[in-house]
Amino acid sequence: MVVVGGGFTGLSAALSLARKGVDVVLLEAGRIHGEASGRNGGHCSPGTAQGLVDLTDRYGLDVAKHHYQVYTDAVDYVERIVADERIDCDFTRRGKLKLASKESHVAGMRRNFDALRKHLDAPVEWLSAADVKRELASDAFHGGMLDTRGGQMHMGKFSTGLATTAARYGARIFEHAAVTQLTNIGGDRHRVTTAKGAIEADRVLLATGCSNHGPFGWWQRRIVPVGSFVIVTEPITPLLDIALPKRRNYVTSLNFGNYFRVTADDRLVWGGRARFARSNPASDRKSGKILKASLDALLPSLKDARIDYCWGGLVEATADRLPSAGKHEGLYYSMAYSGHGTQMSTYMGDVMCDIVMGAKRENPWHRAEWKALPGYVGREWFLPLVGAYFRFKDAVS
Ligand SMILES: Cc1cc2nc3c(=O)[nH]c(=O)nc-3n(C[C@H](O)[C@H](O)[C@H](O)COP(=O)(O)OP(=O)(O)OC[C@H]3O[C@@H](n4cnc5c(N)ncnc54)[C@H](O)[C@@H]3O)c2cc1C
Repeated sequence: MVVVGGGFTGLSAALSLARKGVDVVLLEAGRIHGEASGRNGGHCSPGTAQGLVDLTDRYGLDVAKHHYQVYTDAVDYVERIVADERIDCDFTRRGKLKLASKESHVAGMRRNFDALRKHLDAPVEWLSAADVKRELASDAFHGGMLDTRGGQMHMGKFSTGLATTAARYGARIFEHAAVTQLTNIGGDRHRVTTAKGAIEADRVLLATGCSNHGPFGWWQRRIVPVGSFVIVTEPITPLLDIALPKRRNYVTSLNFGNYFRVTADDRLVWGGRARFARSNPASDRKSGKILKASLDALLPSLKDARIDYCWGGLVEATADRLPSAGKHEGLYYSMAYSGHGTQMSTYMGDVMCDIVMGAKRENPWHRAEWKALPGYVGREWFLPLVGAYFRFKDAVS
């Protein structure tokens, strides 16, 4: 069995397969967790990219509840694997606080809160603007919804832990082994050609995120990579004790909004879309300045904190902002978590392990048909237009 890609999906699949005694080889183009999985903000929270009300409007209540529940199960799965395998990654559940950036956002968030309470009996609490001020030192927010189940962790430590554990169970992991060709040699069997040589496998699982290289054109026409950026301060314990005493996961409600949390060594991790742009060192620096300006505006008491780190990465977006998993032309795949991937990619690695091995297990992200994005051939020429549209929506919302 070959797994292609060493992010959370691939590492989690390799771990589950090896634990079941399957002979598994993982091939990674660069270094494990070198892309989205090692660059993300560290939030591991329940809930889909869109609210329960939006999902219900689109798919009906039963499907919406199911999608939401899978995310809850996924966070529980991460917590379980961390405990079972004793992965040292600072996993903790401090809750997720979604913040209303505009007065006009309150009604929509409140509808979502009511729906979560009514239909899922979710442990969510509504916070008034005054309650929010007790949670964080900012005058910028008009209310918020707290989900007490939100988790957070150190992503690098988590993925290193997944890889080490998978290897301990017998998985063989090859870095700098980019897959360049896949040749079907009968049924699900493939010859997999890499930068380091070729291997034949009974089954292949693609866990390649929003890869823009390799023989994955069919998937690349269905996923748009969108930049997301992060800055991290120096350790600032006394300032954080006042500004963010509960050290939760925080997310603001704008399209060009922010997500933030505090690390175990008391640094603030401040992320956001900043610009609709790809990540590279120059782009990251430019985005870092935009992020610093938003940090200064929203949490002014932290404005003198030195910025120690800045990076960017690519989030894998689909048209409906839902993941996709299944089988296409003899190749299994799971990917495209639309920016909410920490929990779901880890969970789907385990789900796909069972599916690939022929066990009876539900694939929550199976699609009867996954349509290519019209006019899209893997070059996101329209991203500046999408960016302008979302800025306009933020301005008039
Ligand atoms: C800046 C940023 C912040 C984020 N913050 C959060 C957050 O706080 N919470 C959250 O839930 N989600 C967050 N996300 C999203 C989350 O990180 C992703 O959804 C998740 O990591 C996807 O995992 P993956 O394994 O599917 O993909 P990836 O981590 O992208 O892994 C895919 C791997 O496949 C490899 N690959 C590609 N092509 C080939 C090839 N040809 N041959 C071999 N290997 C190949 C790549 O090198 C890569 O390592 C964030 C993403 C970014 C970029």
